[in-house]
Amino acid sequence: MARIRLAGIEKAFGDIAVLNDIDIDIADGEFMVFVGPSGCGKTTLLRTIAGLERPSAGRVVIDGDDVTVWPPARRGVAMVFQSYALYPHMTVLQNIAFGLKLSGMAKDRIDQRVREAAALLQIEPLLHRKPRELSGGQRQRVAIGRSIVRHPKAFLFDEPLSNLDAALRVQMRIELINLHERLRATMVYVTHDQIEAMTMADRIVVLNRGRVEQIGAPLELYRRPRNLFVAGFIGSPRMNFLPLRMVETGPAGVTVSLPGGQRLTVPVQPGGVAAGGEVTLGVRPEHLGLGRAVDGVADLILPAEAEVVEHLGGEVVVHARLDDTAVLDIKADGHQTIRRGDRIEIAVRAPLAYLFGPDGAALPPLTSASLAA
Ligand code: ATP
Repeated sequence: MARIRLAGIEKAFGDIAVLNDIDIDIADGEFMVFVGPSGCGKTTLLRTIAGLERPSAGRVVIDGDDVTVWPPARRGVAMVFQSYALYPHMTVLQNIAFGLKLSGMAKDRIDQRVREAAALLQIEPLLHRKPRELSGGQRQRVAIGRSIVRHPKAFLFDEPLSNLDAALRVQMRIELINLHERLRATMVYVTHDQIEAMTMADRIVVLNRGRVEQIGAPLELYRRPRNLFVAGFIGSPRMNFLPLRMVETGPAGVTVSLPGGQRLTVPVQPGGVAAGGEVTLGVRPEHLGLGRAVDGVADLILPAEAEVVEHLGGEVVVHARLDDTAVLDIKADGHQTIRRGDRIEIAVRAPLAYLFGPDGAALPPLTSASLAA
């Protein structure tokens, strides 16, 4: 097992800077997920840990060793790719054993390790099949088996589930969580899927355009996003954003004026924003209510028209129009009978809302000291 430290990592391909000033400390045994939109640099960062990319600046430290210029094989980490890259002419057993055989390990030790990995991944009945005789999920398990037998210090996963269908992805997600529980190994996992990140990670690194936007436990990112990017990236459906003007600030927080003229006082500090300044109101769809209250309470009721209604069974997502420019998504219980074109009322709760300043940074919540003042 290993602690992995990335210190001041920069990476450019020619003139194009792909990673900027990345500082990340991954604890021994931690399941860390790198998440972000396509092209943000997740894979490049993972390959930098593996030794498949050399950073332009900065250091990669694994278990106290500065491995920045070490070749991949010396680092003791194993990478599992999106494409399984199994040898088609070899059996599952031969595929899993191949790396160990190359390293000159004795046959009985290889056999023992392969049996252990096969038992862990429940692929024992498949050991004598060829890759073409396996499903996608089984092939991915074999690819993971190939890395497990090496007893690596850390596992690096690059979107390992993205070739699988939705149901199998959910199943493999659970298997990987269980595998981490059993091995207690350091795992670094790259995905663009925020649900995968939320469900699997001990901590998540949100990357955007080669920079770290925020690092934290899944619920920390959900509850306290540092800025508009993280707020919009974590959570599904996406957080609603309404650009508004700040009306005034007071001991109860910052007051904004909503479409239609009603006011809402959000319990946050104004930061550097003054009355009249631009702010963005953020409210998650699941924190809005259909009807007159969210959990029996409402600070504000907004009239709207249901423009699109998505019935998902257990829940319903309503895209509601407030006026010519403003639309809010609401996620509610599936038993609602709302139809397109219905007039509805949206209940808003101020403590569940966020405000972001003109630079996109979240305005800080009121502290108990500022509440008392
Ligand atoms: P995705 O989710 O689409 O795989 P990603 O976040 O993993 O994206 P990277 O693959 O790390 O992103 O790529 C980051 C940026 O670096 C992209 O703009 C990509 O085009 C660029 N890039 C990656 N590898 C190279 C390379 N070898 N040469 C030039 N540019 C590269």
